[in-house]
Amino acid sequence: MIDLHTHSSASDGTTPPDALVREAHEAGLDVIALTDHDTTDGWEPAAKALPDGLRLVRGSEISCSRDGISLHLLAYLFDPEDDALSRQLQVLRDSRVGRAERMVSLLAADGHPVSWEQVERLADGTVGRPHVARALMESGLVGSIEEAFSQDWIGTRGRYWAGKHELDVLDAMRLVHAAGGVTVFAHPGADARGRTVGDDVIEEMAAEGLTGLEVDHVDHTAETRDRLRSKASALGLVVTGSSDYHGRNKQVRLGAHTTAPAVLDVISGRATGVEVL
Ligand code: AMP
Ligand code: ZN
Ligand code: FE
Ligand code: FE
Repeated sequence: MIDLHTHSSASDGTTPPDALVREAHEAGLDVIALTDHDTTDGWEPAAKALPDGLRLVRGSEISCSRDGISLHLLAYLFDPEDDALSRQLQVLRDSRVGRAERMVSLLAADGHPVSWEQVERLADGTVGRPHVARALMESGLVGSIEEAFSQDWIGTRGRYWAGKHELDVLDAMRLVHAAGGVTVFAHPGADARGRTVGDDVIEEMAAEGLTGLEVDHVDHTAETRDRLRSKASALGLVVTGSSDYHGRNKQVRLGAHTTAPAVLDVISGRATGVEVL
């Protein structure tokens, strides 16, 4: 069982990286990719705690955009010490702090009792909207994370939403590839969460050396999966499946969707940054 997209408390998951690999082993996974938003900080603790019988693909999910539309790029097995890439990841993380502070200010200005200290306490690494959502829950303003992500609160372009810095996806791909990494387009058709890019962007990404499309994902309908599978096959891209696990911050379990072993071989075969552990 191969799950190529998970989050730990190094970003907006709720399980620390060392506990996550143990949990993955207990859940029966053979391979897990740790892909925290805009960071590699979870790599070392996850690697140190890696149980026998579980392999670790080190990765990150990078905040990108194209033509003003946000999208997520999964980057695997790149050199974490690459200067240009690590500098850009730092810029993305820094911008997330100012942006979360902005959302807190907007909420406070409307009299909602949420503080930056609360968000800071909930975030252990890369700050994300799920931390603000948890703060909203703690303060009794919403009943669930899902509700916090509605247009009345911090859903994309919602009342108290603020945008963050994103890398142009083609620039991000060049950086990842130069650092020896491999790229997969994360949940390309997750349109319930905001606008998604068209086929033209998938084609541009394929021309830039994209390896695959994440097709089997909780946010994709059956029709979307069929469409993306055909697109992948037409463009010579591999197809991945993964849980996008976030612990208690999202209702999906580890291994909810999986990737074929031959696809992992393609990904690891193309990478020159770091190895699968
Ligand atoms: P951010 O990257 O800070 O803008 O936050 C986006 C993160 O929030 C993504 O990683 C999603 O996993 C999570 N997210 C987005 N929409 C929802 C939702 N409706 N319910 C729970 N989590 C969500
Ligand atoms: Zn997330
Ligand atoms: Fe994502
Ligand atoms: Fe994710």
